[in-house]
Amino acid sequence: MIRLFIPHDLAPGAELALDPGQSRYLAAVMRQAVGDEVLLFNGRDGEWRAKISAIGKRAVAVRAEAPARPQATGPDLDLVVALVKRGRMETIVEKAAELGARRVRLVVTERTNADRARVERLSAIATEAAEQTGRLDVPQIVEPVKLEQMIAGWEAGRRLLFCDEAGDAEPILQALSSQADGEPWAILIGPEGGFSPRERALLRALPYATPASLGPRILRADTAAISALSLWQAALGDWRP
Ligand code: SAM
Repeated sequence: MIRLFIPHDLAPGAELALDPGQSRYLAAVMRQAVGDEVLLFNGRDGEWRAKISAIGKRAVAVRAEAPARPQATGPDLDLVVALVKRGRMETIVEKAAELGARRVRLVVTERTNADRARVERLSAIATEAAEQTGRLDVPQIVEPVKLEQMIAGWEAGRRLLFCDEAGDAEPILQALSSQADGEPWAILIGPEGGFSPRERALLRALPYATPASLGPRILRADTAAISALSLWQAALGDWRP
């Protein structure tokens, strides 16, 4: 069943006009017709069954019929990732959405080769991935900030899993096995060039940081993000029963 993320409130009988991109997708790409069913979600009201009520030149209208699933969000898990090249960044965002990250927070470090990101494009990728993966919210893509700024504004109570390729960190599953359940976490992945010695010392000194190794090989940033998110979900997240 086609799932669409929409900004509107959802209530029985609500008539909603889809945006041009979604209208084109339904009418031209998926060749849907009036009366066909779709699923809608907005990140607040759960998932609703809806029917296409009109297919106009410019917009498709849908009518919300009944709730299909109540609103639920996954664990409070951020992915904090240093800016990497566009293609790899887009892969990281798509996989972070599938793997249940609540937010993807972009960070600039000494060795990032960019200080900007196409946040709008990344948000569209996150939305498409959320629609495909069946989640009821879309991960927020947070504008890039400098590493020191991120640390200065760190939210009390959130733990930081510092994926440190230096090689002497504790293996990730061991590092996570001793942690309490239900705490908010963030996973930090560095840039292609890794963290500088200064940054590593800064991060390791943070009381809320847990350095972790992802094994003996140096992983590309996207592989590292996927691995760390998967292992965190299996150890502390919603991959457990
Ligand atoms: N420093 C490496 C180098 O110069 O070739 C590259 C860093 S790697 C491409 C990008 C990020 O992925 C690292 O900063 C780290 O956060 C994570 N990462 C990669 N391999 C890792 C490993 N074996 N253990 C822990 N983290 C790793």
